[in-house]
Amino acid sequence: MKIARFSHGGSIAFGILDEDDREWVVLSGDPMYAGFDTTGDRVKLADAALLAPVLPRSKVIGIGRNYRDHAEEMGSEPPAAPLMFLKPNTSVIGPDDAIVLPPQSERVEHEGELVVVIGRIAKDVSAENALDYVFGYTVGNDVTARDLQRADGQWARGKGFDTFAPLGPVIETEFDVASATIETRVNGEVRQSGRTADLIHGIPELVEYASSVWTLLPGDVIMTGTPAGVGPLVAGDRVEVSISGLGTLSNPVRAKG
Ligand code: MN
Repeated sequence: MKIARFSHGGSIAFGILDEDDREWVVLSGDPMYAGFDTTGDRVKLADAALLAPVLPRSKVIGIGRNYRDHAEEMGSEPPAAPLMFLKPNTSVIGPDDAIVLPPQSERVEHEGELVVVIGRIAKDVSAENALDYVFGYTVGNDVTARDLQRADGQWARGKGFDTFAPLGPVIETEFDVASATIETRVNGEVRQSGRTADLIHGIPELVEYASSVWTLLPGDVIMTGTPAGVGPLVAGDRVEVSISGLGTLSNPVRAKG
């Protein structure tokens, strides 16, 4: 099931994609909290402007170097345990929102990633039970000011600017991580191409590990890491991240001003 959050006629709603992929069936509330009761209304896809499908209540968790080929391009071995960092929830934007290049950086890069959406309060969850706490999956771009990340040694600034966590286009509740492909394109040119099966630390392990440190709240998300091929974004670019089964997240890039 595909769940979207969208604006339509001046109001914001959640919807699920109908069986013909033509309309959003409007829900009476946020399905993460209110279930799947419908209002009886339907909205044509073309008439709905998609928004970030989830607003993380407390945390965007990032996972560093979780694909072997990306660790190699960064000149290091993958970490033995998941390498976690946080992005503020104020970095989240939705489909077609602009990634804004901060003047402090001369090197902003894309990182196309599979994103896990947490649906229930999770604390000290075992990997065995972890998927019970997952609401669904979406596509993300862990936008990174690479020069600032390197200069600071820790990543709060380089990964935390406003607009540095595009999410969307929808949340898919059924997703097969073992068979999906992930691709990032800039102005149509393929920059990153991988398979989510190549995640070093898989989703159950990531939920277990993160929840052993923090309480995960409904709506928190885990950006699971990026495959090789990260590269620069400049003003005027359009960056697209596609994951099979989840769709394409597309964002323009512009200078601040
Ligand atoms: Mn990343």
